[in-house]
Amino acid sequence: MSHIGKGIVFIGDGMGGRPLPELDGKTTIEAQDTPALDALARGGECGLMDPISPGQAAGSDTAHMAILGYDPFKYYRGRGPFEARGVGIDVRPGDVAFRCNFATVDGRKVLDRRAGRIESGTDELAAAISEGVSHIGEVQCIFAPSVAHRAALVLRGEGLSHEITPVDPHESGVDYWDAKPLPDAEDPEAAQTTADLVNEFVRRSHEILENHPVNQARREAGKLPANIVLPRGVGTAVHLQPIEERYGLHSAMIVEVDLVRGLGHYLKMDVIRVPEATGGYDTDEIAMATAVAAALEDHDFVLANIKAPDVGGHDGDYQMKMEAIGKVDRAIGYLLDHVDFAATTILLTADHSTPCAVGDHSGDPVPVVFHGMGVRPDDVQSYGERPCAKGSIERIRGMDVMPLITSYIGAGKKFGA
Ligand code: ZN
Ligand code: ZN
Repeated sequence: MSHIGKGIVFIGDGMGGRPLPELDGKTTIEAQDTPALDALARGGECGLMDPISPGQAAGSDTAHMAILGYDPFKYYRGRGPFEARGVGIDVRPGDVAFRCNFATVDGRKVLDRRAGRIESGTDELAAAISEGVSHIGEVQCIFAPSVAHRAALVLRGEGLSHEITPVDPHESGVDYWDAKPLPDAEDPEAAQTTADLVNEFVRRSHEILENHPVNQARREAGKLPANIVLPRGVGTAVHLQPIEERYGLHSAMIVEVDLVRGLGHYLKMDVIRVPEATGGYDTDEIAMATAVAAALEDHDFVLANIKAPDVGGHDGDYQMKMEAIGKVDRAIGYLLDHVDFAATTILLTADHSTPCAVGDHSGDPVPVVFHGMGVRPDDVQSYGERPCAKGSIERIRGMDVMPLITSYIGAGKKFGA
């Protein structure tokens, strides 16, 4: 039995991009000075990756599912279950889960969908909701607060569906919506039942919160009351085989986004918190890299994600995106100095492209480089969309990542005799 190595998947969130005229036709990765990423490329195998499939713009949740080997077309039923798991609710297959906002309404009109960016008191408000509306009929309602104005709701019972519209209108100054069955729902009856339950939950949340002492105190202090819960981002929980069971690799996740962290919990990975990882431009990439190196001591596989490049892409700010890519480069530089790549394989890539000119995720493939144990280096000399397109990996999909990583580190299983 040969020795099994360790694997790292390191993701610069949304790092892929398109050529920009402001950068003389270079992408932000190509224009940024990235000595460590280039060193990875010089010693590694490069290529392009369609996170899900060619041309398919990916969410961070579906892209991470695919990269970890769980086909999103088969298993993805909305983000709600990951959100709910991320805030500590024990989501079970069949549950319908939502992310929610505490908001301020006057009648049906949403005055502020973040309740004045409420920072404290939501624990008490959530407790009042849990007590006041623990069930609607036979269906159990499980509600938990998250950070600031955010929360999650899980409906547990028979005959529920995720095929409904949201209640949160995603803007202030307009009426909130009634949940309705999607017009093409597979099970219209279950969708109607679920929509009715959600509308009843929302109505009761308003009843419970309107005159709650926390809100009376907020009004007296001149603050907006958090007097309703508005659900959105619905999803049905499905069974996903835990990652350790699937690959035989004891696995950890070090990421900055709650949604991806929720997926990690869902797959029963060790989700490691790094307090200095802010999820913004000011994140401490060395603290994250240090945590990755430390996690490798007692794990076989670590997935890490630095969020900042995606923020730059959404902001349409190529300078900030380049600086964020510089952070990814410094994190990789740290790993090159502190990890034994004779016994470890790393994949450095993005979970999707977030081109500055688009301001959102696009269907463009992302550059990949595998480096370390088991890797046969090609002739690519630098990391970027165009250089990697000439690499020996050619073009893969997110679903190909785990078979490749497990193969490089000797943890793959033979097919046939
Ligand atoms: Zn992403
Ligand atoms: Zn994004």
